[in-house]
Amino acid sequence: MTVIVQKYGGTSVGTVERIKAVAARIQRTVAAGHQVVAVVSAMGHTTDELVKLAADITDNPSRREMDMLLSTGEQVSISLLSMALQAIGQPAVSMTGAQVGIVTESHHSRARILEIDPERLRRQLDSGNVVVVAGFQGIAPNQETDHFEITTLGRGGSDTSAVGLAAALKAECCEIYTDVPGVLTTDPRLVPEAQIMPAITCDEMLELASLGASVLHPRAVEIARNYGVRLVVRSSWTDDPGTQVTSATVGDRPLVGMEIARPVDGVQLDADQAKVTLLHVPDRPGIAAQLFRGIGEHGVSVDLIIQSVHEGSSNDISFTVGRNDQEQAEAASRQLLSDLGGELLPGGEVAKVSVSGVGIVGRPEVLAKVFRTLADAGVNLQLISTSEVKVSCVIDAADRETAIAALCQAFEIEASAVNAAVALGSEDEPPVRGVALDRNQARLAILAVPDRPGMAARIFETLAQRQISVDMIVQSQRSRDLNGVACRDICCTLAREDAVQAQSLLEALQSELGFGAVLVQPDVAKLSIVGAGMAHQSGVAAQMFAELAAAGINIEMIATSEIKTCCVIAEDRAIEALQRIHQVFGLAGERAITVPA
Ligand code: ASP
Ligand code: MG
Repeated sequence: MTVIVQKYGGTSVGTVERIKAVAARIQRTVAAGHQVVAVVSAMGHTTDELVKLAADITDNPSRREMDMLLSTGEQVSISLLSMALQAIGQPAVSMTGAQVGIVTESHHSRARILEIDPERLRRQLDSGNVVVVAGFQGIAPNQETDHFEITTLGRGGSDTSAVGLAAALKAECCEIYTDVPGVLTTDPRLVPEAQIMPAITCDEMLELASLGASVLHPRAVEIARNYGVRLVVRSSWTDDPGTQVTSATVGDRPLVGMEIARPVDGVQLDADQAKVTLLHVPDRPGIAAQLFRGIGEHGVSVDLIIQSVHEGSSNDISFTVGRNDQEQAEAASRQLLSDLGGELLPGGEVAKVSVSGVGIVGRPEVLAKVFRTLADAGVNLQLISTSEVKVSCVIDAADRETAIAALCQAFEIEASAVNAAVALGSEDEPPVRGVALDRNQARLAILAVPDRPGMAARIFETLAQRQISVDMIVQSQRSRDLNGVACRDICCTLAREDAVQAQSLLEALQSELGFGAVLVQPDVAKLSIVGAGMAHQSGVAAQMFAELAAAGINIEMIATSEIKTCCVIAEDRAIEALQRIHQVFGLAGERAITVPA
């Protein structure tokens, strides 16, 4: 018999009536011939209310006691759901995280899953029970005291429990029942025409972090991707199919170290690339659109696109193309420059090395380690472009072997597993699946960073030590040297609340590393289009740039990966930009989807 894991969120079990409805749905699944594990959240807003109770007692509760408190919410809902099942004649048993053996790290309030032993669950299933499991909680052995401590996985962590159990049980699928009908093409509060996506890949979901996270805990997506768990997000109120979250199935990965296994799982090399750089092009809407439309017309497909900070009224834009396309791309660029002014920098032979892995999101130390590894190997970085799950560096072609060897060693990747950055997805997949907008961003620019190995490493190590997560990093070509030293600009976006601290941390490095000013622009937004079909279709980025240009919206920064194009724009134009981009890629539907506030 196949096992199905179903996860019911807080609103789905918010009242006694709803718990009864959930029981009925579970019984139907059993009747259809499946064994069911139901993972549930605490009822309604229980967890928030428990947090508030603690806050009324102390400003600074111990994390251990917080976990003890918060884990009670789920214990209420599992027992009630189990009773509801028994009341309709469905044998069921409720179990806590400890009882099913969800072993975690000992970090209270944000423990990662180390291991799940599926045997106990299996015995219960085989004896005919539905097993109702408390989400969000686990147990950590304490070596010193020889006791077990109750831990929680972090807010929203029930999704992670459910997918973890599905991976351990090799379940047929994991269904996430929630109060939204699936994953939407964008935020429906900002764009009423947002539609449900029938399917999305885990990689796309992770790249759409800000959009996806409200529906599915990113750590759950991470486990699904690593273990090839079939995931479905659907509404608890209807029988609509919802959204399939798919992953390319990977080999049999051991269950040990489930969430702490390698944060990086791939190193890619694009050996034969050429870099094209346009210096001093005017900084006004429409330039990027014109350039990449022109290049598209020459039949050239562009890989990375990078535009960083600008000074005064001009921008520098760099991109990479296959070496065979270099001449065409340069010709198209020259044509543009003859109308606009500006200068074409002779392009060298470069290679692109990329490190990818779901563990990059929210773990600044991983990013810093990529740069540190390349720096220690003496590899100079010409361009950098990051996305949520990937860091790409353009380096001198002569350095490629050194770079790859160093990265493989540092991240324990077999040299034989290094692949050419094969484009994910296929031509059948839409070039744009969804559009995400991050509005709480600031931009940090570090100007005139000396062009030598180790600069990015020092800068991002410094931020990582303070747990400051940067979001998108762009290192661009730079037109002028400072006091005869070749320089580049490094620029990143980060949470607005971290910007000032990051600025002062970096200012303290200024004289040692010899870079110029550290500037903060506090009010930017990051608009991203994501689609696995993007790499197979030319002109997608150009279309995004053109639509922004048509609205007179200036692009402050550009970074791309194979499945994502991201533009930083002024915050006050962000919603309008989102609406237009959503429309222009044909994502809008006629029927408004209602989602709860
Ligand atoms: N009850 C926990 C929370 O509210 C876990 C969950 O619902 O996923 O964060
Ligand atoms: Mg949730």
